[in-house]
Amino acid sequence: MAWRLVGQPGIVAMLSRALREDRLSHAYLFVGPNHVGKATAARELAMALNCRGEDPPCHRCRECHLIDAGRHPDVELVGVGGLCEESDHRDHRADGSKDIRICQVRRLQRLLSRAPFEGIFRVVITDPADALNVEAANAFLKTLEEPPASVVLVLVTSREEALPPTVRSRCRRVPFRLMPVADVEGALVERWSVAPEKARALARLSGGRLGWAVSALEDEGLLSARESVLEDVQRLIGASLSERFAYAGRLGYLFPRERETVLAVLGLWEEWWRDLLLVGAGCGEQAVNSDRLDKLTEESRQYRVRAVVRFLDALRRARQQLQDNVNPLLALEVLMLELPTPALGKEVGFPELRRGLPSTLRVEG
Ligand SMILES: [Zn+2]
Repeated sequence: MAWRLVGQPGIVAMLSRALREDRLSHAYLFVGPNHVGKATAARELAMALNCRGEDPPCHRCRECHLIDAGRHPDVELVGVGGLCEESDHRDHRADGSKDIRICQVRRLQRLLSRAPFEGIFRVVITDPADALNVEAANAFLKTLEEPPASVVLVLVTSREEALPPTVRSRCRRVPFRLMPVADVEGALVERWSVAPEKARALARLSGGRLGWAVSALEDEGLLSARESVLEDVQRLIGASLSERFAYAGRLGYLFPRERETVLAVLGLWEEWWRDLLLVGAGCGEQAVNSDRLDKLTEESRQYRVRAVVRFLDALRRARQQLQDNVNPLLALEVLMLELPTPALGKEVGFPELRRGLPSTLRVEG
């Protein structure tokens, strides 16, 4: 089998084994962070199920091509907007809908009541499944409870907890993890023909999310969002408490709506301070922010290592608290109180670190 899924060998092995032994579940729930290959895996599974080539998914036969292009009549994509029952041509995105609606699920059910048009299996990919609104999820539940033969349902989500337990419990859960940074780098070079230097930098910045790295190739906006977070990191170090709290306030306000964004911002903060330790210890080649070594070197001379380690702990704690639904504003304000202050006027450096880096700070890849 030649699955085109990077950095998730366990998942490829599990799904190909199920295919080979004819033990596929009728419903899968692909869960995990954004941009780690969940949607790709769903598409590859659809190909493997319908491929007529020698070594499915072959990526060469007509079925594989149609699925890859999103035009196979037996592979149905259900997402925000999309076609609904009342009219096969109406697209709810035009109404500004952010949900998957019940009319879309009804249309799907009508389709599923017929045999596959030309494929072997019908595959339904619902992405993001957490966009199913309550009515739609209830309707979908009926299909999960009595799935038609030759239908495989794949639900994709990065917010598993937003799905009703009744839906979750009827799916086989498949957890996706961050990809090894080296795998992301390799894929960028081999498949996207990115120059090795750039691939290396992007892979590190992606933190193991190939999808992010690929989007960043096409969308300058993603890289500039990172720039602006790094500017905030610099600015807040010397800022007054009220400025820091204002920053915490903005992030805290954003959190209920843009959870992933806020967690990603804290991830960038963490990378910056971890890089500071790495550079201070003479391991700059392992730094994620490899494009800012000069700034990192300059700053690494201004902090005591203990203060930086303490702040890294505070960052991890804040991230955990946000995930555990502690009041976001409170968690972020506490974090801002713990920002280390530069030891002005003297070069402190990290003599403690020259002897070697604590193993907890080593960067993967
Ligand atoms: Zn094929």
